[in-house]
Amino acid sequence: MSQPTPPAFVQGTKQLLIGGQWVASNTGQHIDAINPANGELLCRIAQGSAQDVDRAVAAARKAFEGPWSRFTAHERRKLLLKVHDAIMDNFEELALIETLDMGAPLARTRGYKEWLSQLLQFYASQTGLAGSSTGTPMSIAPNFMALKHQVPVGVVGGIIPWNGPLMGLWWIYGPALATGCTAVLKPAEDASLSSLRVSELMMEAGVPEGVINVVTGYGKDVGQALSGHMGVDRVAFTGSVGTAQAIVRASAGNLKRLQLELGGKSPDIVFADADLDKAVPGAAMGVFSNTGQVCVAGTRILVQRAIHDEFVQRLAAFAKTIKIGDGRESGVQIGPLISQRQLDRVMHYMDIGGKEAQLVHGGQRLTGGELGKGFFVEPTVFANVRNDMTIAREEIFGPVASVIPFDTVEDALRLANDTPYGLAGGVWTQNLGTAHKVSQGIRSGTVWVNCYGVIDPATGFGGTKMSGYGWKGGKEHVESFLYPKATYFNLD
Ligand code: ADP
Repeated sequence: MSQPTPPAFVQGTKQLLIGGQWVASNTGQHIDAINPANGELLCRIAQGSAQDVDRAVAAARKAFEGPWSRFTAHERRKLLLKVHDAIMDNFEELALIETLDMGAPLARTRGYKEWLSQLLQFYASQTGLAGSSTGTPMSIAPNFMALKHQVPVGVVGGIIPWNGPLMGLWWIYGPALATGCTAVLKPAEDASLSSLRVSELMMEAGVPEGVINVVTGYGKDVGQALSGHMGVDRVAFTGSVGTAQAIVRASAGNLKRLQLELGGKSPDIVFADADLDKAVPGAAMGVFSNTGQVCVAGTRILVQRAIHDEFVQRLAAFAKTIKIGDGRESGVQIGPLISQRQLDRVMHYMDIGGKEAQLVHGGQRLTGGELGKGFFVEPTVFANVRNDMTIAREEIFGPVASVIPFDTVEDALRLANDTPYGLAGGVWTQNLGTAHKVSQGIRSGTVWVNCYGVIDPATGFGGTKMSGYGWKGGKEHVESFLYPKATYFNLD
C-alpha cells in the first residue's frame, strides 16, 4: 500500500529556535528522531543544554519587554488569526510529521484540524483579557479611586510530553500569544518535530522574534534548567508525577507559578442500564485511542456486576476489530507505542496483569512482518480486576483496560475515588439521577456522561489530587497567564 512520503522538513539536523534565529545547540550534539512504526531514523534534533536555555530565556525576556509589550489586544488577535491560517494551510504536512514522529494514525492527527482551528480561534477571542482594567470608586475615602489591571506574568516555560505535541503545544503558545507573555517551549525528546515545524510556520506568519523559542533536548538537561531558571516566571508542565515533583522543587528558587497536568487512572463507570451499543465502543476508545497514551484515558472500567460478563465479551470483540498498524496506512485506528522504553513498560504491566487478573484479549507485542520492527502491542482487556491490583493502581500509558465489577452506586464511587489520581472519569447510564450523583461524586477535574474524552477549548479541563492543578482551556487558562494589579489614585 502506498504511503505518503516524509515532508522535506523531516531531514538533516533540526536546530533550536532562539530569538527568531535557528541556531545550533552549544553541545553540538543531537538526538535521533525515530519513527516508532518501524524503528527507522527520520532525522535528528539538537540536544539542547542549560546554556541554550539561558540564551532562550534571555531572548524571551528581551521580547517580553520589547515591542511585543506594546501590541494591542487587537494586534495580538490579528496575529493569532494569522497563525491560525498558517497552521490550517499547512495542516496536512503537520499531521504527517506528527504521525511519523510519534506514531498516531493519520486518521487521528488529521482529525485534530477542526479542533485546533476552534482552539486557536478561542485564544484569539480572549486577547482582551490582558491589559483590561476596571476603575472602582474606593470604599474607604471619596477622593480615592482604584484601577485594577490584568498584567501578563512574563516568560513562560512550557514542558510538554510526546503523546500529542501538535495539540499540546497550544496550551502554551495559545495563551502566551493571547496575553502578551513570551514562551520557551521544551518538547519531549521522543517527539519534537511538530513543535519545531509549527514554530517555524508561526515565525513566517509574523510572530515577533523571541516571543516563542524552542529548546529541544532531554528533560534532565533542558527541562530541569527551564524549571529552575530564575528568569522564568511560570512553568506549564504536562507529564508524569515524578517529573512534576522535580519541577515543583526546581521552581522554588523564584516561586514560579505552576500549572501541572499529570497522569491518571481514571474510572469509566458503566451501569447495567447503559446503552451498551454506545458504552462499549465509547469505553473501549476511552482506553485504546492513541494506543492508550492519553492522560485522561479511562483505564479502570467499572462495570455493574449484572452486565460484567456481557460487557467484557463485547469489549473483547470490539478490541479484536481495531486495526493496528503504521499510522500512514489508511484504515489504521491505533499505531505503535512511542518507544522501546514505553514498550518495555507496557509489556511489564501486561505480565503483571496476566498473573493477577483474567486476561480476556491481547497481552502481546506484535512481532510478525513489518510490524515487528515497530513498537506495536495488542489492545488488551483484563477482566475481574480488583481495585487493589497493580494494573488498577499504576498508570500504564498503554492500551490496557482493567474491567472491575461493582454492585451499587456507593460501591462504584468508593472504587472510583480509591486512587491517588483525580484527572478524569466517565459514567454511562440512562438514568439522569445516577448520572448526576455519580458525576458529582467522582473526585476529578473532568467527568464525561455517556461520552468520553470530549474537550471544548472554551470550557477546558484539568485535574485534582496527584493529577496536578491548574486548568487548560477556557477563560481560567488565559487568566493564569496574567496577574491582577491594583493602582490606587489620590484624586485630590
Ligand atoms: P514520560 O515518562 O511519560 O516521558 P515525563 O514526565 O518524563 O513523562 O516527560 C514529560 C516531559 O518532561 C518531557 O518533555 C521530558 O523531557 C520532560 N522532563 C523529564 N524530566 C524532567 C525534569 N527533571 N525536569 C523537567 N522536565 C523534565
